[in-house]
Amino acid sequence: MEITFLGGTQTVTGSQHLLSVGGKKILIECGLFQGRRQDSYEKNLSFSFDPAHIDACVLTHAHIDHSGNLPNLVKNGFSGPIYATPPTVDLCRIMLKDSGHIQEKDIEWLNKIRKKQHKSPLIPLYTMRDAEAACSQFVGIEYNTTVTIAPGVEVRFLEGGHILGSASIHFFITEDGATMHVEYAGDIGRTNKPIIHDPNLPRDLDMLIMESTYGNRLHDPADDVHEQFARIIRETSASGGKLIIPAFAVGRTQELVHTLHKLYNQNRIPDIPVFVDSPLAYHATGVFRNHPECFDRETARIFTRDGEDPFEFRRLKYITEVNDSKRLNSLDYPHIIISASGMAEAGRILHHLRNNIENHRTVILFVGHAVKETLARKIMDGQKEIKIFGEKHIVRAQVKMLGTFSAHADRKDLLDYVKYCPPSRLKHVFLVHGELEQARALKNALQSKGYENVHIPESGETASF
Ligand SMILES: [Zn+2]
Repeated sequence: MEITFLGGTQTVTGSQHLLSVGGKKILIECGLFQGRRQDSYEKNLSFSFDPAHIDACVLTHAHIDHSGNLPNLVKNGFSGPIYATPPTVDLCRIMLKDSGHIQEKDIEWLNKIRKKQHKSPLIPLYTMRDAEAACSQFVGIEYNTTVTIAPGVEVRFLEGGHILGSASIHFFITEDGATMHVEYAGDIGRTNKPIIHDPNLPRDLDMLIMESTYGNRLHDPADDVHEQFARIIRETSASGGKLIIPAFAVGRTQELVHTLHKLYNQNRIPDIPVFVDSPLAYHATGVFRNHPECFDRETARIFTRDGEDPFEFRRLKYITEVNDSKRLNSLDYPHIIISASGMAEAGRILHHLRNNIENHRTVILFVGHAVKETLARKIMDGQKEIKIFGEKHIVRAQVKMLGTFSAHADRKDLLDYVKYCPPSRLKHVFLVHGELEQARALKNALQSKGYENVHIPESGETASF
């Protein structure tokens, strides 16, 4: 077998790896690289292999940095099955279509600039139509069932604990009568995260490909973070300002809503309106409701025993119509807006930031990781002057961060992840999905625990066994 690390190497975006076994080619993830618009377009446009020669694709979860380039893969000739858990399939159906819409809009914007520069127009990476075509190739595989996807390659999807439907993929690879146990961990979630189950911890692996987003960071305990969150809401409300939270529409938004519901029930936050301004978040929440089998005990109990919907409460309103979204701008009383995208690169959040970032009573709260060069990262890093829709803005709003809403394992969780895989058996660990500094720190920590062969691959690097 051979594995080539193509994307999501020494960075957290654009996950894509190619597994070759006995002449069959299996693509693990087909994520969109996210960063500066023009760079991203070029990086995502072409593949370093012929998509028509890929036999199958496996997907850990629906986040766009793992699934978002699938429509382009199909458009370029891939006609095989895309295996994922049923909730991931459902989420991809709405997320890829939304991504197709964003691609179409992005290219319109780029082409306006290119026209001024007398350059020829570009075509979108893919359209909503292409996304729909890709969705017809999805094949749902239930958690904990073993399926043969190519001669000598069986897979099993195990709970990932990261977002609804997320999985780690356990491969049983048989060559010359010997079977190797290989896991691609995808994005590793956290224990005791609300809504979904805890991640499965693998056993008896020979090889592990794992993420390293927070290889050098520890999150604060959840209770402290909820109190910090409540305090930020109380302070914003007292000062009469708006609280604007850029958040991924899938996973993070539902977790925020779930937490706000709880704080609201406990009377820990003032009675101010909460708007989830994202059609994608609204539709994704519907998928959450359709998959109660994925809920952890606490969330299942809220649903069944208390008869409450964890994703609804009196002061919460989902906004889908553009005009309703625009109306939020004229509200002159304290309120909370949760809007996508989380890295503030696209979507309605850009309008809310543009309209409020120069107001010192506005609080912008970041609740997750943002890739370098994205607008969210620039604001988080304290830049005082930023550009939105090509116009300069001075950052006068207060900027706050709450890292523990992160859906990613921290350093301790990542080290715990291998606790049932002794170094005597687990001979190869590859660290992906992390900036180099984070990956290096995790590599050192793993080596000090006895795992000798820990490698941080470069893009395009191939490992053979
Ligand atoms: Zn993810």
